[in-house]
Amino acid sequence: MRLWKLAAAAVLALACVTPALAGGDDDRIALFQPKNIFHSGLRDAHVVALTFDDGPNANTPAVLDVLKTLNVKATFFIVGRMAKRYPDVLARIAAEGHLLANHSATHPLLGNRYVRHPDLLVDQIREVNDLIAPLMKPTDKFFFRAPFGSWRTAHAAVLNADPVLRNYIGPIYWDEGGEISMTRDGYIMSAADWSCWHHRWSAETCAKGYLREIRRHDGGVVLMHCIHRQSADLVAAVVPALMEEGYRFARIDQVPEYKQYETPPAKPAAVADRSNGPIQYAGVIDQKDLK
Ligand SMILES: [Zn+2]
Repeated sequence: MRLWKLAAAAVLALACVTPALAGGDDDRIALFQPKNIFHSGLRDAHVVALTFDDGPNANTPAVLDVLKTLNVKATFFIVGRMAKRYPDVLARIAAEGHLLANHSATHPLLGNRYVRHPDLLVDQIREVNDLIAPLMKPTDKFFFRAPFGSWRTAHAAVLNADPVLRNYIGPIYWDEGGEISMTRDGYIMSAADWSCWHHRWSAETCAKGYLREIRRHDGGVVLMHCIHRQSADLVAAVVPALMEEGYRFARIDQVPEYKQYETPPAKPAAVADRSNGPIQYAGVIDQKDLK
């Protein structure tokens, strides 16, 4: 590892201990965020977090096979409707050390309809939670990604008022894999798998776009899907190339930048103790409690 990479890793480590917690900015600590979380902190860190959306389905086991061969752990953003049809594949994802995450029950656009009907919004995310939570380890963290990356500020407050969903971090966006882009003379700059398949590109051609975008950013959260016939071939074309270049792989619960959004611990209960005068606190005293 080159020295400046070490420096970048050190900055990454530092970044996770200096979040908004100290500033008392509740919007930033509050779990579901008013806006997509665009900043992963993995760019320039030579670390890649592979994320697979919209599964599981019958094409997902082939993706799992490739990841198993390469010994890479990833994150799968699960759609509830699919998980119900493929419960065995869902269980296999968790059993092989990947992180299950929430991508809504039916993959709707979470627009104004869900602002008007917050109960439907809660249902969309609770339903998937109930499918994935029993398969997750007690130490696993909960993450959400919005279908199509579409989000409304009002959603955060609704979901953070739910005693279970307030343990989520999200919506998680991505650094690579969002779209196909090319120079005028046809040099592929970036790719998005679903769009590659729509244009009948091969996995090898699509992989060029992924690899070039990842290299330009030197790491990041990579958006892919695990539901297409070509999905496994794309992983097989992208991941070994990155490994040869010394990239490390992380699940998104290993991304330091996201720790600032974790649910704050419950406020310690104040215990009155008259013999000592002022109120005694059982735990850490937050500045905000001293007013
Ligand atoms: Zn999706």
